[in-house]
Amino acid sequence: MEQAVPSSPLEQVRASIAKAARIAGRKAGDVTLVAVSKTKPAEAILDLIAQGQRVFGENRVQETQDKWPAIRAAHPDVELHLVGQLQSNKAEEAIALFDCIHSVDRPSLVSALGKAQDKLGRKVPCFVQVNIGNEEQKGGCAVTDLPALLEQAREAGLVVIGLMCVPPAGIEAAPFFALLDKLADENGLVQLSMGMSEDFETAVQLGATHVRIGSALFGAR
Ligand SMILES: *Cc1c(COP(=O)(O)O)cnc(C)c1O
Repeated sequence: MEQAVPSSPLEQVRASIAKAARIAGRKAGDVTLVAVSKTKPAEAILDLIAQGQRVFGENRVQETQDKWPAIRAAHPDVELHLVGQLQSNKAEEAIALFDCIHSVDRPSLVSALGKAQDKLGRKVPCFVQVNIGNEEQKGGCAVTDLPALLEQAREAGLVVIGLMCVPPAGIEAAPFFALLDKLADENGLVQLSMGMSEDFETAVQLGATHVRIGSALFGAR
């Protein structure tokens, strides 16, 4: 029997995730698709919600405050994740706005988020971002600093559910994904936020539990 041709970008991405998961002996349902809607208008987001997408990612607090309250009010079951770098002075806004934070990467941010959680009486699950390619100017904590940062995060009351990375551009991502998986293992963490439009199939094969996909769903930015 002929297979149906997936029609929308969302269906295509879902099919690719399912295929990569199957190849790796994993279940597609174990991979959360985070639709990264930064710079995209509300109409594009509502269109994806209408197609059944429920988890979205943004990278700026201000843009999220402008764009999301109305969408949230109309669709209370939608989850919103922060995938971009966060300034410590925006920690309180971030705890109030997001259901998950993927970019916890330094001691000052850990303490700011801990204080914000206490103040607002709300706990937000988070990933610790690792600078997996040891690049200058890149977000993420150094691999060698990871155990200490995780310890500090636990003491501050953060709920760390896993590790996140953005591998260096222009070079095969697989070794970096494998390293993130190993680091998670060593630190007793099970969730992996890794894989973007260009490399999410590889990430799923190597154990990603969250893929963060923008342009493959919404078109180029
Ligand atoms: C923008 C962004 C993404 C999505 O990138 P695409 O290449 O458009 O899929 C994923 N993760 C982070 C941290 C981002 O900033």
